Order: sequence, then C-alpha cells, then structure tokens
Amino acid sequence: MSLRVLAVASEVFPLVKTGGLADVAGALPPALAGHDVAVTTLMPAYRGLLGRVGEVEQRLAWPLLFGGPARLLAARAGALDLLLLDAPHLFDRAGGPYAGENGVPFGDNLLRFAALGAVAAQLAASDGFDLVHAHDWQAGLVGAYLRLVQQRRVPVVFTVHNLAFQGQYPASLFPLLGLPSAAFRTEGLEYFGMVGCLKAGLWYADRITTVSPSYAAEIRTPEGGMGLDGLLRGRAGSLSGILNGIDTGEWNPATDPALAARFDVGDIAARAANKAALQARFGLEPDPSKQLFCFIGRLAWQKGIDLALEAIPSLFAADAQLILLGSGEAVLEQRCRGAARANPGRIGAFIGFDEGLARLCYAGSDAVLVPSRFEPCGLTQLCALRYGALPIVARTGGLLDTVIDGNEMAISAGVATGFSFNAGSLELLMEAIGRAARAWRDPPLWSRLQANAMASDVSWQHSAGQYAALFRTLAAGHG
Ligand code: ADP
Repeated sequence: MSLRVLAVASEVFPLVKTGGLADVAGALPPALAGHDVAVTTLMPAYRGLLGRVGEVEQRLAWPLLFGGPARLLAARAGALDLLLLDAPHLFDRAGGPYAGENGVPFGDNLLRFAALGAVAAQLAASDGFDLVHAHDWQAGLVGAYLRLVQQRRVPVVFTVHNLAFQGQYPASLFPLLGLPSAAFRTEGLEYFGMVGCLKAGLWYADRITTVSPSYAAEIRTPEGGMGLDGLLRGRAGSLSGILNGIDTGEWNPATDPALAARFDVGDIAARAANKAALQARFGLEPDPSKQLFCFIGRLAWQKGIDLALEAIPSLFAADAQLILLGSGEAVLEQRCRGAARANPGRIGAFIGFDEGLARLCYAGSDAVLVPSRFEPCGLTQLCALRYGALPIVARTGGLLDTVIDGNEMAISAGVATGFSFNAGSLELLMEAIGRAARAWRDPPLWSRLQANAMASDVSWQHSAGQYAALFRTLAAGHG
C-alpha cells in the first residue's frame, strides 16, 4: 500500500531555491513515487509563489496564526503535490525566503518557521499521514509541536542538509512559541541557553538522516559536530547518511534548454559550443585549447572560495581560464570581482544567482572546483559529473563519497571521475589543479575521465530506495 508522507521544507525547486535543500526537496518526491511513497510537501507561500503554481484550493484557515490570519492551500507544480502556508504577515515580503532585499535576515524568522512547524504538526496529527519528513532547522520544530502540542506519535524523520545552519534564537522568544515551558531544557529544545531549532529537530525526531555517509560520521566528531556532536553521538543508532542525487531528467545535457548546444556521453565533442559560449560571455580568450575551470556556489568560508582565489597562480601556470559564479559575503564577492577585473581575458565573474548560467558553466567548463572546507553532500560535483566537467573536490563529506580521484591506480582501473585533495589545504588544491592540467594535455585520457564522469550514477534511484525502506520500517513501528 502506498505510504503517505508529509515533507516539510522552506525551499523547493523550481519554486524557491537558495541552495541544495531546494533541489533535494524538489527531486526526492517524484523519485519516491517510483517506490510507492506518496509525498505531499508543505512550504510557505512566499511573495509571488501563488502565481506560479496554477490552480489552488483552500484546505484550512486560521483567523489568527502567530499574529495574523492564515490559510492552507493545496496546489500542484509539475510532479509536486503541495500544501502552501499562506500567511501574508509572515511570508508575503520582498527579498528571499530568509532575508530581505538588503540580505539582512528577517527579525521574526523564529516565528515564521515555528508557524510552519506548528501547521505541519497539526496536519500530521489529523490528516492520516504515515510519516513526516522534516528538512533542516526551518522544519526543526515539527517534532516538538507533534509530540508536545498534538501529543501524537506519527514518526518523524529529520534530515540535516547542513549542520552549520542551526536556527538559534534568544530564550526570551520561547514563550511566543506556544510550547509547554518544560520543553525549554537540555532534554528538549534548549541549546546553550537559546532556542535551538536544529537542536529540536534532532532531539524530537525518531530518525535522523544526513545527506552522505561520510558527513553522518563527521558530525559525530568534535571537529565536524559544530557543538551538536555529543547529542549526535548519543543518537548514533538513529543516525544514518543517505547520499543526495540530482533529478537526472531536470539535469540532462541532452535536453537542457539553457545550453548553447546539447550533448550526451556518446557525443561529448558537442560540448565545445558551450565552452565557446562561456568564453564569449565572459570575454575570455576564445581558445578551445585553454583549459576552462569554474567555481559555482555560495561565496562563503565553507565553500573554500578563498582557497580557489589563492590557487589562481596554479591555474595561470597551466595557462588555464577561470569563471566564478556565486553570491554571498560582500568581501568575497569583492574579491571575485577584483580577480576578474585584474585578469581580463583569463578570469570572468558573475556575482548573483543565475540557474541558466550555472547550467552553461557545467556544460562548457572543463573542470569545476569544489574546494569546500566541509560539505554535507554537495550538488555541484554531481551536476559537474552529469555534464562532463571533471570535479576537483576536497576530500570531505559527500564530496568524498561521490568523486573518485584520478590517481594512477584509479585511472588504470578505469574508474576515476575527477580529482580530490585534503580539505583546507591550498598546497594540495594547487597540486590537484596541476594533476588536472597534466591530464588535460593528454586528450585521450581526458576523454576517458569525462566518459567515466558522465557514466556515474548521480540519480536518485538508489537513494530514494533507501529513504523508502527507512520510511516503511518506521511507519510499521519498527524504528
Ligand atoms: P549549498 O550548500 O549551497 O546548498 P549544494 O552544492 O548542496 O550547496 O547546492 C548548490 C546548488 O545551488 C547547486 O544546484 C548549484 O548549481 C546551485 N548554485 C549555487 N550557487 C549558484 C549561483 N550563483 N547561481 C546558480 N546556481 C547556483
């Protein structure tokens, strides 16, 4: 019998995306449908969203939900079955899902996402769902509301996409949440004297998953646990890593309309037009023989963009080109712009979020730099593999689990799909870039590596099966 799951997420591709969470929340439900799991996804109706989902139908209404009237609307978007929390006083705002146009986080984010959690718990308790799948701190309070307010034992799986985003707020806000005061303690949602939304998610979940097996191990250590390693060690028996995939129908170089030329593993040479389009767009020397590297991602310490910038001499030593695509911290944005300005024809930068340009970069670059200091799973390397750009990744988290380093043994075994180096080391990043540059000068070898990369299974196929098995075990009461 089909299992009914309520997923709760603050961003869902293609409706709202700031990072990998959206990709996963958008791709996992259709992948689970193939395993007889029917997912309904609850998300906030941010400004403009209702105009992009087609017909909506009202399911519930509250005269007063955390300070204003609210409605729950059902809608469909592509393969997604959605429930939208339309609470204008909380979500109808200019800017992104978490911050205003000036990039400053909204002052009432705790209440905004507490409302999401409270509504999710009410639905889970009353609407016949077999299980709740809550994503990240924004859905961290679902379990608390379900156990403490609704007093129901619907199983909750909490998935951590990034332990660095913890949703911590002053204790003075706790009374606004409508939770029993006894819940504000270490064995509850208190986290070092504050309200901890991620902490609550971890504490009240029946099972915790994170997005790669390596990250599941790393977050149980003091180095990777960001203050939560003790709790996670205590819950080790309920914690596992399930690797993210990407929607290979959505991310398909043979059909992607964002590309200058479409291609597949049988016709990799057709990528060349995408590289030419990138070189033209960024004013780089239009030379197909120059190796083109790119970086795509949030401009943040986590992503190691500073290391990528410091590694530029090794790119120049190889006479290579570089494209930087990202947005984030102002200082890092400035450094990217500065690198492009100082090296016209060799380095190009686009500061902002541009899905189509990202796709062209995956399709036209020869290699993608992913020098993250830590990386729960990482999707950029999966997109790169799928589009035939060889990933150069730090050996951490999901990067470690998805890219096979092109060392001599892996090359002779025919399994290498990229290059990897010890996370955080500039010297070893530069060495990996050097190895990629040497491989580039051996075109038959490079083609073999590209073919291996494109043949990697980056789909949801396997992982969706793992989620489905976990959900069934829990729903049957064997968790
Ligand atoms: P994060 O930690 O930001 O979630 P992931 O690697 O899990 O990182 O996911 C990042 C996703 O966002 C990928 O699909 C990547 O292509 C995309 N992305 C990141 N930055 C940009 C950007 N500036 N423009 C377009 N897409 C981007």
